[in-house]
Amino acid sequence: MSPSTDAGADVSTGAPASGPSETDGRVVEALRRALPGRVVTDPEVLTACTADRSGHRADAPPLAVVEAREVADVQETCRIASAHGTPIVTRAAGTGLAGGAVAGGGEIVLSTRSMDRILEISPADRLAVVGPGILNGDLNRALAEHGLWWAPDPASRDISTVGGNIAMNAGGLLCAKYGVTREAVLALTVVLADGRVVETGHRTVKGVSGYDLCALLIGSEGTLGIIVEATLRLDPLPEGPPTTIGAFFDSVDDAARAAAAITAAGHRIALMELMDEPTLAAVAEHADQDLLRRGRAHLLVQCDGPGAATLAEAVVAVLRDHGGDVEATDDEQRAAELLALRRAALPALEAQGTLLVEDIAVPRSRLAETFAAIRELEAAHGVTIPTTCHAGDGNLHPTFVVTSEEIPARVWAAAEALFAHALAVGGTLTGEHGIGLLKRAWLPDELGPEQLQLQRGIKAVFDPQGLLNPGKIFAQETA
Ligand SMILES: Cc1cc2nc3c(=O)[nH]c(=O)nc-3n(C[C@H](O)[C@H](O)[C@H](O)COP(=O)(O)OP(=O)(O)OC[C@H]3O[C@@H](n4cnc5c(N)ncnc54)[C@H](O)[C@@H]3O)c2cc1C
Repeated sequence: MSPSTDAGADVSTGAPASGPSETDGRVVEALRRALPGRVVTDPEVLTACTADRSGHRADAPPLAVVEAREVADVQETCRIASAHGTPIVTRAAGTGLAGGAVAGGGEIVLSTRSMDRILEISPADRLAVVGPGILNGDLNRALAEHGLWWAPDPASRDISTVGGNIAMNAGGLLCAKYGVTREAVLALTVVLADGRVVETGHRTVKGVSGYDLCALLIGSEGTLGIIVEATLRLDPLPEGPPTTIGAFFDSVDDAARAAAAITAAGHRIALMELMDEPTLAAVAEHADQDLLRRGRAHLLVQCDGPGAATLAEAVVAVLRDHGGDVEATDDEQRAAELLALRRAALPALEAQGTLLVEDIAVPRSRLAETFAAIRELEAAHGVTIPTTCHAGDGNLHPTFVVTSEEIPARVWAAAEALFAHALAVGGTLTGEHGIGLLKRAWLPDELGPEQLQLQRGIKAVFDPQGLLNPGKIFAQETA
């Protein structure tokens, strides 16, 4: 769930509110005839597709779910949908946090989850070609046999798909060194709304012919085309044990300044995660450990690959310079315990109530200032905002814990002020979770009218009938 849900934003998916029409019946019939055995109308399955992990739910179930197995299934679905003017919501594992896979009345759900084949692994070219439905974790288990991995590492990697990661340009813990999903995709094959197949990108490392449509499709949230095949750039698995560093600080300000100093020094750390005092307090309670005795903020850093130990020494020095109580280890068991502290943050907060996880990103030099702004928002709005942060890339997850049935107005007000702060310091509304349904009301604030118009124009070129995931990213135009 996101604060944006109730903040006066129009969150309709664009699906008609009225019951199924005659055309809807004809569409389902046409799908059944063209795709025998692939079309599901079981009410339980349809209801599951009205939600993802954002907390948003559509009012009415979609018409049908097409469980695509082949590219031809996707093409056929698109041809039928465009002939009838019926919207398509592409859905993979449904773990999205922005409402992107939410489908409502009058819409077809196109599930890519069964298109999960590994078509090629080429150690020579350091690439893999896969279907979009493969889970990130399954792919990486297969790649490990070749000493390779696909770097995008959302915390959901065991439950989310490669296609979903690409459609959302997912991030994760290792982005500071290995980049977001965009850096790890070479080529995409997509089916357009009218059923045409388009191949974008290259198998080569370089390639600059024409506009980079492959890059445009990454993060397009299912609104421009349906990804049916992906060529992924692979990395060799890092050599040797990583060095893991945990540091407690007296204040989040010290921790944030230490993180910024590590970045400014150019240290290529793999992971740098910050927890503030309210998060640490929740983890302490959940894990029954007296963590607050050791400090009021925690920074976890990991250095991997050749030279990890030397790099770790430099990082430890920076952390100590900023007042950190530092522990560094290359012992696997102890490293797992340090990582477990950070991993406990979400479950610890979930134990306290319903979570509204926000996702702003700011320039890394503005981290300390952003934590100060969050503390000011807490005081101004009478809320507590425990915040975890991928400090290596300036991506914060300020989190609202709601214990009442209704989400209090002060939470919406604080969230809105948080977005305004992010934009004011040169940041963004969303570092990795996407716009979807839930943040589209604020998108014009970030893009401005000219860019918004260009972006709507791009959508119209790819999908002139507006059938692919309508109402996502952009609010429906009323005029
Ligand atoms: C516990 C948890 C932890 C998470 N941690 C992270 C994290 O660390 N970093 C992060 O970035 N996200 C995280 N997420 C969010 C989510 O897992 C990611 O956004 C993920 O990439 C979504 O993948 P999915 O397969 O579930 O896609 P879905 O939720 O099914 O779909 C997401 C969007 O992609 C579109 N889409 C899916 N497949 C295709 C396709 N083949 N072609 C075109 N469009 C498509 C859909 O229409 C929708 O708009 C987390 C979620 C959970 C529940």
